[in-house]
Amino acid sequence: MRFTIYLLLLCLASDSVAEDPDLGQALYIGDDLLKNYQPRSSLTLKQNLVPRAKYPVVDVHTHFPATVEPDFLIDRMNELNVKRVVNLSGGWGNELDELLNRYYKLDPEKFIIFCNIDFSRIDEPEFGNAMARFLELAHARGVKGLKIFKNLGLTVKNKKGEIVPIDDPKMDPIWRKAGELKMPVLIHAADPVAFFKPIDRFNERWLQLHRHPDWSFFGPQFPAREEILEQRNKVMKKHPKTNFVGAHVGNSSEDLGYAGRALDEHPNFSIDMSARVAELGRQPYSARKFFIKYQDRIMFGTDRYPGRPTQPRYKIYYRFLETDDEYFDYYDNDFPPTGEWKIYGIFLPDEVLKKVYYQNAERLLGLGE
Ligand SMILES: [Zn+2]
Repeated sequence: MRFTIYLLLLCLASDSVAEDPDLGQALYIGDDLLKNYQPRSSLTLKQNLVPRAKYPVVDVHTHFPATVEPDFLIDRMNELNVKRVVNLSGGWGNELDELLNRYYKLDPEKFIIFCNIDFSRIDEPEFGNAMARFLELAHARGVKGLKIFKNLGLTVKNKKGEIVPIDDPKMDPIWRKAGELKMPVLIHAADPVAFFKPIDRFNERWLQLHRHPDWSFFGPQFPAREEILEQRNKVMKKHPKTNFVGAHVGNSSEDLGYAGRALDEHPNFSIDMSARVAELGRQPYSARKFFIKYQDRIMFGTDRYPGRPTQPRYKIYYRFLETDDEYFDYYDNDFPPTGEWKIYGIFLPDEVLKKVYYQNAERLLGLGE
């Protein structure tokens, strides 16, 4: 007898909003329809929940607006044992002023702010030099680094309508200046493998891409994922005195071999682990070896902030890094935000944990313990 299984998404909700009780999948087996299928594991396993990190944490990848109360943030940081947060959404202009006034002035070593580049000015003849000057001024006011979002290399276009590659020479003065000022450049280049594949029945993030069709970069209008990563690598090679941090395992968490080669070939490259625990935790043997081998080059990050109400991530990341728990959820949500799988802990040795949690970040940011 032949069974045909169809997956059907009942509700096209956002990852972070889960009010509809019908969220989940329906499954057709032959003619039988099973609504809202959410199988529960029958395994009896130990559960080492980790509400507080074993060592103080520097979260190098957070985003929060100036509306978040500093006192609220500090309380949540204390609960979670987060010592410092790096807010990558500093922006420029008023937005940056507001963040500096609200957090940096309060505690410049607890609230670290990275600024961003205004790519709407990309066609200005002096773009690179103007932005290098902006970096200088921002640095003088306490901004510690530069964050480049994924739009560079993917969606930023010049007036001719061409996508601006990461290694466009227009950007060179910016990379050079960041190196001179010892400001690390945290760069999000490309995106997960599945976002560059057709949204068909073979796509392992089919459900996610149906919730967020704008996250798909499949098609001739976009460069290939590998091409974008190579553009980033070229920039790192050309600017060896500038430190680059690849957001989200350098967007190579599906291929840790590639991530390792990029680290081997570029001594000025390190990575953050944010938003990729789903990927790392489903390949625990490879991930553990990778973390141990590159223990001086990997930094803790969540892509959240302490106290963020939806999908908070911290406790799950701690459990992944510290325990040998098996087959647990990589999310705190009503349904899997990325793919339909579970993860496993990688029980890192204490010395490695300390490096990943805070030592590597503090060295990069020039901050003492
Ligand atoms: Zn981010």
